[in-house]
Amino acid sequence: MADSLRELFHEELKDIYDAEQRITKALPKMAKVADSEELVSAFEEHLSETEEHIRRLEEVFDSIEESPAKKTCKAMVGLLEEGQELMDEDTDSPALKDAALIAAAQKVEHYEIATYGCLRTWAELLGEDEAVRLLQITLDEEGATDKKLTEIAQSLNVEAIEQSDEEEEPAVVTQGRRAGNGGRSSQKRTR
Ligand code: FE
Ligand code: FE
Repeated sequence: MADSLRELFHEELKDIYDAEQRITKALPKMAKVADSEELVSAFEEHLSETEEHIRRLEEVFDSIEESPAKKTCKAMVGLLEEGQELMDEDTDSPALKDAALIAAAQKVEHYEIATYGCLRTWAELLGEDEAVRLLQITLDEEGATDKKLTEIAQSLNVEAIEQSDEEEEPAVVTQGRRAGNGGRSSQKRTR
C-alpha cells in the first residue's frame, strides 16, 4: 500500500496507463465485430481518443516529474476478457451482439471514469494544477463516449428483439419503434 497520497496518485496513474494501452488493442477488434455503422464509428473514434489519452497521461507523468510506467491493470484484463468472450459467441442477431458489445464497452468506460475522477480529485488535493487540467479533459471524453454508447444502445434494443423473436410480425415491432431510430435499422429489417 502506498504511504502517501502522492504515491497513491503515482500508482493509480501507472494502472490507467496500462489499462489505456490494453484498450487500444481491444477497440479495433470490437469495431470489426460490431454491426451497426454508428457503433463501428463510435469504436473507431474512441480508438483515436484513447491514443490521445495515452499521450495525455505521458504529459501528466511529466508534470509530476516522473517517467511514464505501467503496472498491470487486473481489472482491465478481466473486463477485456469478458468482452472477448462476448465477441466469440455465436448469435443470429447482429443487433443483439451489438447490445452485448456496448455493455462490455460501457463497463470499460465506467472503470476509466472512476479512475480518472479519483486521479483528478487527488491532483487537486496535491496542488498539481497541470495534471488536474489534463485529467479533466480525458474524464470529459470518457463521459461523452459513455453517453454516446447509451444512445446507440437505445436505438438498438428494439432491433435486437425484432431480429431474434419477431421476424414474422414486423408490423407489431414497427409500432413500438422509437422515433429517430435512424435509417440503419430499417435497412436491416428482415422483410
Ligand atoms: Fe481512455
Ligand atoms: Fe475510454
